[in-house]
Amino acid sequence: MTLLIKGARPYGEDAADILVKDGRIAAIGESLSATGADVVDATGLVALPGLVDLHTHLREPGREDAETVESGSRAAALGGYTAVHAMANTDPVADTAGVVEQVWRLGQEAGLVDVVPVGAVTVGLSGERLAELGAMADSAARVRVFSDDGHCVADPALMRRALEYVKALDGVVAQHAEEPRLTVGAQMHEGDRSARLGLTGWPAAAEEAIIARDVLLADHVGARLHVCHVSTAGSVEILRWAKSRGVQVTAEVTPHHLLLTDECAEGYDPVFKVNPPLRTDADVEALRAGLAEGVIDAVATDHAPHAVEDKETEWASARPGMLGLEQALSVVVATMVETGLLDWRGVADRMSARPAAIGRLDGHGRPLTPGEPANLLLLDPGTRAVVDPAALASRSRNSPYAGRELPGRVVATFLRGEATVLDGKATR
Ligand SMILES: [Zn+2]
Repeated sequence: MTLLIKGARPYGEDAADILVKDGRIAAIGESLSATGADVVDATGLVALPGLVDLHTHLREPGREDAETVESGSRAAALGGYTAVHAMANTDPVADTAGVVEQVWRLGQEAGLVDVVPVGAVTVGLSGERLAELGAMADSAARVRVFSDDGHCVADPALMRRALEYVKALDGVVAQHAEEPRLTVGAQMHEGDRSARLGLTGWPAAAEEAIIARDVLLADHVGARLHVCHVSTAGSVEILRWAKSRGVQVTAEVTPHHLLLTDECAEGYDPVFKVNPPLRTDADVEALRAGLAEGVIDAVATDHAPHAVEDKETEWASARPGMLGLEQALSVVVATMVETGLLDWRGVADRMSARPAAIGRLDGHGRPLTPGEPANLLLLDPGTRAVVDPAALASRSRNSPYAGRELPGRVVATFLRGEATVLDGKATR
């Protein structure tokens, strides 16, 4: 099977043709031709490596009314992704080889992105004893990222043991950093606004205290630590300090924390309720700067679909979480590219190369060069569109970007040379 992509701009640079043969990039250059090839006109479109998400909630098994591996995979492909890590807080929890293999197989069957299961750190996400980390690593799903996301591994002795185990597996613990004793009943960022709105606050210190503790533990053990959804300026400071000391720590930021602030809570619309919460303008500025600098390694969506009955209720009882996969690249274009903080190579690094490296994924996050797997996307950066939740591929509708105009449209996505998205539509 041969594919010829004409006139694309790899990394936003000079136009070139991209020839794909048998799932790999065969050549990149001017005026390429190939008899019998499928031709895609990509004039003016930016070509980037397929995106890799470290943090997706696909909800299957257990909450197929909110999302399935297939619907979430379709949303991911439409967002330009070729691989997503599926978080472990399903029902049953992905804490055994059996469950992670089930999720991995469902991903293979959907065939739209590579679905890479994350394994739970503790049995049932209970924070009490370690799950079968080795069995999950050795399974067909080849788990390398372990996380109790949704919950913090709060017990420091258990966290230390988890780090020791994953070190031997060449894995990483992805920590949802939230000291639970400091966030009992928390509803939004703790500050002037939470006091005025009468909502219990989630203090920045609850995140920063765990990150500080965990970088010290990771340093002591010599293991890799990954910090999920960093949301505060203080967290960026701690990460900068840890990296300067050579601690093996990586971190991610979500699109919503790059764009939105706690001001969104003013109308008590629970679509803006998320954990960790939306923070202040100063935090957003620090997160953008941290991502530009590389202190924050990756953008990860924390795509969190919720059924209407769990989300469209009063603020206090609504589940935290937001959709992210389909708009992530647009939000990064708006917050990082149009502001001059990142160029297209920077976007490829933070949304593809580094997340793939953190997850130890083969065949993803590779540069657009001959010989590499043809995992790539084509983006029209000039198109701006208003987000309509009803038009999303996700089974859920809880998009915080509803009604907001965002730049950039993913026109096509290719997984090992096969189109999963063409003309902005999923091919299956
Ligand atoms: Zn989380």
